[in-house]
Amino acid sequence: MDFIIGSIENTFSTGELINLPWQLNRQDKTLSTKDNYCTCRKPIKECHVWSQVIAQQEKWLYNKNKSKFRTSLSWSVLAPSQPFYEAIYRKFVIWLLKQNSLISISDILFRLHRRKGQLNWRLIDTIAEVSGNIFIVDSSKDILRFLLLQYTRPEDIYLIMMIRNPMGVCNSHLKHGRNIKCTASKWVKKYNTFAKLISKINLDNYLVIDYDELTENVNYVRNRIAHYLNISDLKDIQEINTGSYHIIAGNHKTRFAGNITIVKDEEWKSKLSPEQQSIISRRVRKLNPLFKKSLSGFYFNF
Ligand SMILES: [Zn+2]
Repeated sequence: MDFIIGSIENTFSTGELINLPWQLNRQDKTLSTKDNYCTCRKPIKECHVWSQVIAQQEKWLYNKNKSKFRTSLSWSVLAPSQPFYEAIYRKFVIWLLKQNSLISISDILFRLHRRKGQLNWRLIDTIAEVSGNIFIVDSSKDILRFLLLQYTRPEDIYLIMMIRNPMGVCNSHLKHGRNIKCTASKWVKKYNTFAKLISKINLDNYLVIDYDELTENVNYVRNRIAHYLNISDLKDIQEINTGSYHIIAGNHKTRFAGNITIVKDEEWKSKLSPEQQSIISRRVRKLNPLFKKSLSGFYFNF
């Protein structure tokens, strides 16, 4: 998705922007050195886009307190910067936001985090200025961060959500030895939480992309996205050269793959038994209509 959206005129894909402070300060040896590189194959600090962005944001991006620094873009200012407390805090905030009667409390929460929202926007504005683009595509998978950005500058935000093929997702989790029922339920819960939170902010201008549709007809979906962003760029793309992007986080294999074409992953058809497919299908039926209507009916009938 990063590569496809980023191929549209006036857009710039960053990858998971939330990881930027971490990418810059990752001296710990446990991580792959590939993480120090931008997709253009230069170290992030030497890439002509990111070096300028960093120079303009230096003071903030090089915060001396490493643990604080890591979370300086994310929603955790009230929680101690330790993954355990962060996770509890996030769960609590999501629970609060999901309650119908607590709208005023959620407003207070957003106000508390407003400064963080402004810091994020300052970074986004700098990237737009340095790269000379209008739309900055951030694929951080963080619903709270999205809500905060939306709260801080609602007029400047667009939301594109991709619904992945549940069979493919469960199949890849199964490879890591996870339980199929649990994985399928988690998959549904994640989308349903998202749908519920989106419904709270009365955001009606969003786009849902179906993964299968994307892989079957890349240019049709690309045009839909351009149309949503009000950009008239209808040229077709055949091949993607990952080296022409400046994406700073994400899967190494894809980021440094060179020339790639989009192919549909249908491995699940041969790997999942009919019983397993039926287990997944039964859970997928509980999907919120916001996503259900975009996902092929095919997955509900096993
Ligand atoms: Zn670069």
